[in-house]
Amino acid sequence: MAQQKGVTVWFTGLSGAGKTTITQAVAQTLREQGYGIEILDGDLIRENLTKGLGFSKADRDENIRRIGFVSQLLTRNGVIVLVSAISPYRAVREEVRQKIGSFVEVFVNAPLATCEERDVKGLYKKARSGEIKQFTGISDPYEPPLHPEVECRTDLETLDESVSQVFAALEAAGYLPTEARAMAH
Ligand code: ADP
Repeated sequence: MAQQKGVTVWFTGLSGAGKTTITQAVAQTLREQGYGIEILDGDLIRENLTKGLGFSKADRDENIRRIGFVSQLLTRNGVIVLVSAISPYRAVREEVRQKIGSFVEVFVNAPLATCEERDVKGLYKKARSGEIKQFTGISDPYEPPLHPEVECRTDLETLDESVSQVFAALEAAGYLPTEARAMAH
């Protein structure tokens, strides 16, 4: 396999903002081009690596630290790691960025009203009714990134446009050759 540079691409945003959708699309294109990639999906991670952790600030931070640790190991071995996790707190996102080094932050941004309207998993309804407590955006904070490498406004742009933005950032930062995106479109 061609030499590839490891990098963590960290997708943060509200539930329903589009993290999973963009991650899957980016992953598919990278796989088709023969890159070695791994997806660390927040929901899946909470079922195994961080099983038992809750949604207090301390537990959310611990969840992100563990994801960050695995991501660091993979990244330093040349893997392109796509992390898809709400990761609501700015400070711990900065912490993992510093530890990993090769890091591209993607703010998957849609207004709360849009996410709630989509209600992909029916969770906002449950959060509004009080069935789910500490729900990000409703009854728990979300601290948007101040200087993300990429911001995908998924209420205003198509999935293809969001994906292209991620590729452009990876190219600009030197993690992918510039022909990668041209091949995808
Ligand atoms: P998250 O993983 O952030 O919880 P999902 O990816 O599961 O969010 O859901 C996002 C929803 O928004 C999907 O139904 C997707 O089809 C839709 N969507 C609309 N426009 C976009 C876009 N530009 N990028 C990503 N998702 C989009």
